[in-house]
Amino acid sequence: MKSTRRVIHSSLVPETVQLLGVDCDVFDLMQESVIAFDANGRISFWNAASERIYGWQRADTVGRLFQEVLGDQPWQVDDTSGNASDNGACSKEIHRRTLCGREVVIQANLAIQSKSAGRAQRIIEIGLDVTVQRQAELEARVAQRQYRNVFQAVAASAWEIDFTAVRVLVLGWLKSIDEDPRQWLKARPALVRELIRATIVTDVNDRGIQLFRASNREQLLGSIDRYWPEASTDDFCEWIASALAGETFFSRETRQRRHDGVEFDALFTASFAPGATEDDRLVVTIVDYSDIKRGQAAVRESEAFYTDMFHGAAFSAWHLDATETQAIYSGLRARGVTDFRAYVAENPELVFQIMEAIKVVDVNETSVRLFGAISRGQMIGQSVTPYWLPDRLETFIGSLDASFRGCPTFESLGRMRTLAGNEIDVLFTRSASSTLRNAGQLLLAIVDMTDKVNAQNALAEMQATFAHAARVSSLGELTASIAHEINQPLAAIAANGEAASRWLAHPVPDLGRLRGLSEDIIADARRASDVVGHIRSMASPQVGQYRPVSLNSLVGDALTLLSSQLNKVGVQATCDFQPDLPNVLGDPVQLQQVIVNLILNAIQAMEATPCRRLSLNTVLQGDHVSLTVIDTGLGIRTENLGKLFGSFFTTKTDGMGIGLAICRTIVEAHGGTIVAVNCAPRGASFTVRLPAQ
Ligand code: ADP
Repeated sequence: MKSTRRVIHSSLVPETVQLLGVDCDVFDLMQESVIAFDANGRISFWNAASERIYGWQRADTVGRLFQEVLGDQPWQVDDTSGNASDNGACSKEIHRRTLCGREVVIQANLAIQSKSAGRAQRIIEIGLDVTVQRQAELEARVAQRQYRNVFQAVAASAWEIDFTAVRVLVLGWLKSIDEDPRQWLKARPALVRELIRATIVTDVNDRGIQLFRASNREQLLGSIDRYWPEASTDDFCEWIASALAGETFFSRETRQRRHDGVEFDALFTASFAPGATEDDRLVVTIVDYSDIKRGQAAVRESEAFYTDMFHGAAFSAWHLDATETQAIYSGLRARGVTDFRAYVAENPELVFQIMEAIKVVDVNETSVRLFGAISRGQMIGQSVTPYWLPDRLETFIGSLDASFRGCPTFESLGRMRTLAGNEIDVLFTRSASSTLRNAGQLLLAIVDMTDKVNAQNALAEMQATFAHAARVSSLGELTASIAHEINQPLAAIAANGEAASRWLAHPVPDLGRLRGLSEDIIADARRASDVVGHIRSMASPQVGQYRPVSLNSLVGDALTLLSSQLNKVGVQATCDFQPDLPNVLGDPVQLQQVIVNLILNAIQAMEATPCRRLSLNTVLQGDHVSLTVIDTGLGIRTENLGKLFGSFFTTKTDGMGIGLAICRTIVEAHGGTIVAVNCAPRGASFTVRLPAQ
């Protein structure tokens, strides 16, 4: 079009000169503006196209100065040469304003009518409005620049590919075949390789240079052959087929080869560049997929591991959806609730509401067996309500409370219910990583403890029986002390009773003395009764009651109880008590039993040695009080040190071997420890540590 118009210009110019002023209508038919003016710039002609382009009517321009109407200086013409003086050019592009102020771009040509035969010189400008064309060119330039920017800026390696030769080749081959091009190509790898060779890289961005380990852009330009390994031939066929089918987008995982020959997993994406379909220019992006693939493999592995672990676990595994619970917690927090336990104590119905809202997402076969379901399907999708006993909710509430406080795990022994209604003792563990928690999910591991709880109960019963037996057996050894202890108050009662009788026989009984005697009698009777009560409490299999106990007093009492025993063997006992020793919280009878046991063992260990000294020391160490019983006996054989506290370990012919085992059970039940060591040069030392109150 553009060139055609130029021809019209040049052919019209001589005619214009001749026809001007004779038949103006010819010029009104033209697309171009035709403006005639004299050497001073005064306009003498203004055609219809000029009216359209500039908005000025002919009547308003003829006779006026060119500059006034069009804003720019009129063309200057060299009088001698008759050329335009504007660098000698007879053609130029001019930016002008129309009557209403719009900018127009005019491609202007000039024709000059020389002075002759008394006619003044006349200059004729023929202007083509190229505003729209220039705008389109500008837009195209901007688009091209934007495309270049995007090409460079994409986070992937971007390649511009020239596909022209490929299309020509493929279309040539496929003309004569009916088959699906994809299959046809795949069956001919040698031809596909030819296509690969014909696929030309025309540009690549900086990331592409990095990814393919090239030193510069030029290294990568040319055929893609060396970057496209054999293993990816099929992927190339897919790409070609997609392009031939007119698809503008193609994406595939494939293998690519770097400039240094190393292959890597790549995500290959091809799309036709905007407006480039005509010349078969494609933009492809290649992303290094190795890390993503490794990540995906790791995810698959961990999913498989999780699934195996979940479904193969010997414990009952649950996957729960607690999304609604999270919403309830948020509501509570918004209302200022910070102590969940306190809140549900006052609003117990909330516990059941939450229970109903927690849904089973998945369970393993062990769960199906343990909870007596027919299949996993019977449990999945249902709430957890059937599995909790309404009057045994400590574990469930504990778990909710832990969750409310954001603790990732919770573990507790508890009791649950099977679908058949049987109660089972379980070790309940809830765990929810932050990722799970954020998704409102959690996992449970439930271990059936019924057998273990039964076994533990049996063990505890057995220990209690042994403990009772041991207490009763130590009573035998205590008999002498008991007799002594009771004899003393009884003798005192008898003596005071006799004295009272004598005073009563006086004609005037001394009531003051009598009162004193009867008070002594009462006190002695109490002492005797305390001793008897103490013996009875040791002999009875009662469950201990914890209260603050002074260790110093207990040791003192034990020494009193065992005084005759100590005397008999000739043991010299010394005490080193820390004054103001804090109490311990415990069962005085049980703790007394520990001390009596240790002292009796010490006495027995010293029976065969000439030097018999017993030391009893108490001391506060940090937040624990400790009692150490040290003797100068035979000591403990090194190989036996680790066995002493085991049940039925004894080195005595008549020993039962349960005294120290019971001592340890009692001490540990009080949150303490007991250890034995040998002393230099002889003897053994037993230390009991208990938490100070
Ligand atoms: P028994 O006294 O019936 O043997 P214990 O459990 O009280 O049962 O003690 C276990 C064993 O620990 C004793 O047989 C003895 O070998 C050893 N033993 C305990 N106390 C001492 C001690 N003070 N000195 C040396 N050995 C001791």
